[in-house]
Amino acid sequence: MDFRLTEEQEQIRATVREFAESEIKPHVMKWDEAQTFPLETVKKLGELGMLGAIFPEQYGGAALSYVDYVNIIEELGVIDSGIGLTVAAHNSLCTGHIYLTGTDEQKKKWLPKLTTGEWLGAWGLTEPGSGSDAAGMLTTAVKSGNEWVLNGTKNFITNASYANISVVIAITDRNDKKRGASAFAVEMDRKGIRPGKKENKLGMRASDTAELVMQDCRVPASNLLGKVGDGFVDALRVLDGGRISIGALAVGIARGAYEAARDYAKQRTAFGKPIAEFQAIQFMLADMATEIDAARLLCYRAAVAKDNGERVSTLSAMAKLYASEVAVRCTEKGVQIFGGYGFIKDFPAEKYYRDVKLCTIGEGTSEIQRMVIARHLLNDER
Ligand SMILES: Cc1cc2nc3c(=O)[nH]c(=O)nc-3n(C[C@H](O)[C@H](O)[C@H](O)COP(=O)(O)OP(=O)(O)OC[C@H]3O[C@@H](n4cnc5c(N)ncnc54)[C@H](O)[C@@H]3O)c2cc1C
Repeated sequence: MDFRLTEEQEQIRATVREFAESEIKPHVMKWDEAQTFPLETVKKLGELGMLGAIFPEQYGGAALSYVDYVNIIEELGVIDSGIGLTVAAHNSLCTGHIYLTGTDEQKKKWLPKLTTGEWLGAWGLTEPGSGSDAAGMLTTAVKSGNEWVLNGTKNFITNASYANISVVIAITDRNDKKRGASAFAVEMDRKGIRPGKKENKLGMRASDTAELVMQDCRVPASNLLGKVGDGFVDALRVLDGGRISIGALAVGIARGAYEAARDYAKQRTAFGKPIAEFQAIQFMLADMATEIDAARLLCYRAAVAKDNGERVSTLSAMAKLYASEVAVRCTEKGVQIFGGYGFIKDFPAEKYYRDVKLCTIGEGTSEIQRMVIARHLLNDER
């Protein structure tokens, strides 16, 4: 067991860090306040290979490992987790679903556009009335000749307003709770599908979150992804990978909060000395650094298992649960160390504190992760 990154892995990390420092950092608060989705910057990430990070070269991808992907998302999370979320949803949800379940023909048709960033992708499972309980969804897909007709509304969909293609999970058999859903790739220029209301969010405001509205949206039978009835099973497999990236995003946010607090503590003085000399502050920093390392290691463990082709439901749920909850604690300590300045938008602590909360909710809440972990433990599964 070797915990060091290879030179190549360090290089990939450094490339993302440099890009984030120069192309993202100067705009972070402007984008946050105006809720701007920086499409041009996202496209540049595509040119760097980040929108096809985990996909093979034959489909235009960068063919990086999941460990590299964890590092990429962490580095983006340090600077602006909204951009990290955009990249994560595009890679592991939309593109990941097509890669996992698509036929060779479907992969050749859509993946090169997605992996190069020519297209942006969205993935729609959640609906206004069903999130954790995905089987309660109302969106339907009904077969009509050689087409499927989709009706319904997805909400909270990352990238929905800017996507060129969306993967949509819809009910194809209302009577079958387990195998009653199927997945479809829907190009966004089709008649009958459009982005709906854009959400005004607490954090991650540079990411786009909107509804996906479908009214008699017809797609050819060749747009069905995987088998009829496999929609839920495949969505859960997609989320197994996605959750590792949300864990990595949480690690990035926590690290950003920690580094800012550490630097601030060294220069802020009180009672005649830097506050970093108070043991109360040192203990907070020590706890932050330790928990961040532990969270990152859980993400790496899940990523290595994924790279090895192992089943990662439990490992990814553990990584996401722990990393997101650690990150919430770290950002809260970050605000505390900044004192009053932690509450002020001229300093970085408050944004980390707002952004991080999504990590305990998106791609399955902490409660759902605990249920996944407990179910696997009690069934003696990995
Ligand atoms: C910014 C953002 C981006 C998102 N991006 C996407 C996306 O790209 N695609 C997509 O499909 N979805 C997306 N989502 C949706 C997200 O995955 C859901 O919000 C999440 O799964 C929770 O669902 P919900 O909001 O309906 O909450 P609910 O399911 O209504 O949960 C409410 C509360 O009840 C708890 N709860 C529910 N069931 C149980 C249970 N059985 N036991 C114990 N507690 C329970 C939950 O943990 C939570 O605390 C996004 C959400 C946000 C906020």
